Amino acid sequence: MSRVLIIGGGLAGLAAAVRLTELDYDVTLLETRKKLGGRATSFVDPRSGEVLDNCQHVLMGCCTYLIDFYDRIGVLDTIEWHTELYWTRGQGLIDRLKPGWLPAPLHYSGSFGRFKSYTQKEKRHLARAMWRMIRLGYAGRLAWRERTFLEFLRECGQPDELIRSYWQVVIVSACNLPVERVSAEAALQVFQEGFLASKWSSAMGLASVPLWSLYDPAHEAIERAGGKVRLGVSVKSINFDGSRATGVVTDEGLIESPTIISAVPFDRLDKLVGASMRKADARLQHLESFDVSPILGVHLTFDQPVMDLPHLVLIDRAVHWMFNKGTDQDGHQHIHAVISAADDWMPLPEEEIARRVLEDVHHVIPPSRGLEPVRVRAVKEKRATFAAVPGLDRIRPAAAPGGPGGSNGLATGGIPNFYLAGDWCDTGWPATMEGAVRSGYAAAESISGRSCRVSEVPPGVLAAALGLRSGLAKF
Ligand SMILES: Cc1cc2nc3c(=O)[nH]c(=O)nc-3n(C[C@H](O)[C@H](O)[C@H](O)COP(=O)(O)OP(=O)(O)OC[C@H]3O[C@@H](n4cnc5c(N)ncnc54)[C@H](O)[C@@H]3O)c2cc1C
Repeated sequence: MSRVLIIGGGLAGLAAAVRLTELDYDVTLLETRKKLGGRATSFVDPRSGEVLDNCQHVLMGCCTYLIDFYDRIGVLDTIEWHTELYWTRGQGLIDRLKPGWLPAPLHYSGSFGRFKSYTQKEKRHLARAMWRMIRLGYAGRLAWRERTFLEFLRECGQPDELIRSYWQVVIVSACNLPVERVSAEAALQVFQEGFLASKWSSAMGLASVPLWSLYDPAHEAIERAGGKVRLGVSVKSINFDGSRATGVVTDEGLIESPTIISAVPFDRLDKLVGASMRKADARLQHLESFDVSPILGVHLTFDQPVMDLPHLVLIDRAVHWMFNKGTDQDGHQHIHAVISAADDWMPLPEEEIARRVLEDVHHVIPPSRGLEPVRVRAVKEKRATFAAVPGLDRIRPAAAPGGPGGSNGLATGGIPNFYLAGDWCDTGWPATMEGAVRSGYAAAESISGRSCRVSEVPPGVLAAALGLRSGLAKF
C-alpha cells in the first residue's frame, strides 16, 4: 500500500483522506487541533458549557461534492433541506422565495413577482440583469474575472438603491465580500449556477446537529479503512531534499512519507515551506498574495421563543442572516445572527456587538421587542475566507504538481510528490465547504490516477437552451 501523509483535518484534508483510504492508500492525517473540521466546526462555550458552531454553515443543492462526501461518511441524513427562503425588511413583513412550477431559469419568477420588498420597477431592473447573466453563459463570465461585480451591475444599469438592497444582500453572504470588491466571475457563478440553472441548485442545506459531530464518522471511516488520524500534532515545516518533499517536522518529531498533501490554508502553508521548496514549485510563489475577509457569528439565547421561521434574510440591515437554532427543554430559544465581510465589526467589544445585533433582532422579529437575551456569544473569525477579488483565480494553485498547470494557466512547477488541497485551491469555487471537498477529491484523483469525479447538477432544459449550458467546474 502506498503511503500518503495529509497535513490538516479540515474538510479538504478529510475529503482527501476518505477518498484515498477507499482506494487502498495508507493514509496518515495530522491535525494540530484536538478536533476535526477546521473552520467548519463547533466548540464548547466555556461561559455556558453549550456546544456552539463557530458559525452557521450553509450548503446548497449545487454542492454535489460535499453532498457526496457527507453520503460516503453516512451523515447526509443530518442535513435539513429548505427550498423556501424568507426575506424581510422588518416590521414583521415577510417575503417568501420558493421555486414555482415554471422551469429554470423562470422558477422564482412567480414568488419573486409577489415580493413586497421591491417595487415593480426594481423587479424589472433585476430581470434585465438576470437575463444578461443567462445569455452570458458560463463561458462568458470568464471575461469578467478581472473586474468587480459592481462594474457588471453598473453595465446592466442597476440603480444604486437596488444594488444596496438586493445585490449586496445576496453577494455579501454568498461570497463574503461586498459587490465593490468581489470578482464579477465569483458573483456571476452564484447567480448562474446557484439560482438560475436548475430548481434544485439553490435548495439550502443546514446541519441539524453540531458541525463537529459530522466528522466523527469521517474519522471512523478513515481508521476502519486502515488510515490513521492523529489529533493534536502540529506540523512545523515540510522537509525538502532539493527535488522531493521527504517528510514533515512535527512537535513530536520527523515523519517521513513518499507522498504529502498540504490541506492547510495558504497562510499556514506559507510558514511550513522553506525558500528552496518555494523556488522549486510555482504553486508556492503567490501564497502571500491572498487576502482574507472576516465573518462574525453571534449566538443569542432568549428565555422564551421569539422566532418561528427557520431563518431570515435581512434586507438593508447590518445583520445579513438570522437562523432559528431551536428551543431547548426550558423554553430557551437560540438564535444565530451572521454578518459577512464584517471588517468594521472586528474591533468592537462584545457588548457593542450585542447592542447592534439586538437592534436588528428587534426590528425584524417583533415578538422579541422589549426582551434582552439571557446569553450572547460573539465569535469573530478574522480569517474566515480568502477574499475572492478580481484576478485571484490566476494564482489559485492546482492540486497536482507538474504539468502545464491549472485551468488558470498557472504553471504548477515540479515537486512531483507534493499535492495541495484547501478551499483556496483552483477549484472554480469560492471559499466554501464545497470548494474544500472538491480540492480534497482533486488531490486524491491526482495521486491515485483514479477518477474521483462527482456529477454536477444538470441545468434545466430551458436554462441550457438559453445559455447556461456546460459548467466551468474545474473539478
Ligand atoms: C465564520 C465562517 C462561516 C462560514 N460559512 C460558510 C458557509 O455558510 N458555507 C460554506 O460552504 N462555507 C462557509 N465557510 C467557509 C468554510 O468553513 C471553509 O471554506 C472550509 O471549511 C475550509 O476547509 P479547508 O479544509 O480548506 O480549511 P480549514 O477548515 O481551515 O482546515 C485546515 C485544517 O488544518 C489544520 N492545520 C493548520 N495548520 C496546521 C499545521 N501546521 N499542522 C497540522 N494541522 C494544521 C487546521 O487546524 C484546520 O483544521 C465559513 C467559514 C467561516 C470561518
